[in-house]
Amino acid sequence: MNLIEEMTTRGHERVCVHHDPDSGLRAIIAVHSTALGNALGGTRRWHYDSYDAALLDVLRLSRGMTYKAACAGLDMGGAKSVILLDSPRQTPTEAQARAMGRFVDSFNGDYIAAEDVGVNEQFVDWMAMETDHVMGGTGEGQGGDPSPHTALGVFRGMQACLRHVGESQFAGLTVAIQGVGSVGAHLARMLHEHGAELVVADIHQNSVDEMVGKYGARAVGTDEIIGAECDILAPCALGAVIGPDNIDSIRARMICGAANNQLVDHDRDAAALRKRGVLYGPDFIVNAGGLIHLAGLYLGLTPPQLEAKIDDIESTTLRIFELTDQHESTAHAAVALAEERIATERSREETHAG
Ligand code: NAD
Repeated sequence: MNLIEEMTTRGHERVCVHHDPDSGLRAIIAVHSTALGNALGGTRRWHYDSYDAALLDVLRLSRGMTYKAACAGLDMGGAKSVILLDSPRQTPTEAQARAMGRFVDSFNGDYIAAEDVGVNEQFVDWMAMETDHVMGGTGEGQGGDPSPHTALGVFRGMQACLRHVGESQFAGLTVAIQGVGSVGAHLARMLHEHGAELVVADIHQNSVDEMVGKYGARAVGTDEIIGAECDILAPCALGAVIGPDNIDSIRARMICGAANNQLVDHDRDAAALRKRGVLYGPDFIVNAGGLIHLAGLYLGLTPPQLEAKIDDIESTTLRIFELTDQHESTAHAAVALAEERIATERSREETHAG
């Protein structure tokens, strides 16, 4: 991959690669944009097939964070980091986490790290031993696990979907959740409390059994969940789960879930969903609750202000649906909304500077 070319095309400001020989840490931090402020984005620990695959992942994810923060109304830019594991189940160590903390610290606050796949509160706490620029740990004001806040945001996104199609009640509806891990399980609880029927799938049988036992969910196979008979499909496991191979099998009327980069190809697949009459709540809009919680705390917002901002996901999602008449898809409208906010902020700064 030609990094400079990729950065230029995607609009990245800074991409740094780091190797710590003592701990064996190999990591990349990508800052996509600081136009709206310093940038908070999770640290992902993952075993990639190649260095290029890791680079592509961090470039895609960091740009997504810029759009997510902009649409969430946060004065935050977009960034993300990845740690390249030597094997899929490599055990996290304090030495590697602290080396990552020092790498994060070298950005002097332009980049603020947090949890992502493979990074839990313990790992964040270790990073926090080396830098103040990390959120999501157990320390005072660190915000802890963002998953419940992400789930609440997805729930608000679903409420927007319902309002857009002229409905308001979850009672009598069926929601299919792919992946009942941290976010999916919180979402399942909320939906059950609001009277929805649940269909669930997960590669971990224990997680499925818990949902069946607690909420009377119907379990289906991991290869059946995307095409399950339901009103709303909530992808809450991995990215790239909806594409040309399965779009025609989708029976849901709406898609709204937590996973990042749910569509194999953002533009193409969002347009295909629209053509099929499936309402797609753009992932980076509806899954912003965790970011709002952690970034909001970092920026000094009070708990009521944080809650109000997460609730705003409903009105932002609705606004995007309304704007979609002028765009190819809801995903396209969401990106346009983010770019508009960034451009407005840039021109305001230029006016002040002038
Ligand atoms: P998690 O790892 O706790 O849960 C993911 C679940 O998906 C696990 O239970 C896993 O077993 C299951 N899974 C994996 N592959 C699957 C498959 N093929 N079919 C069915 N289930 C499968 O992760 P999480 O924190 O709940 O996050 C879920 C998704 O939401 C991720 O894509 C993450 O990037 C995204 N997200 C999370 C947050 C957050 O606050 N945690 C915020 C924004 C976005």
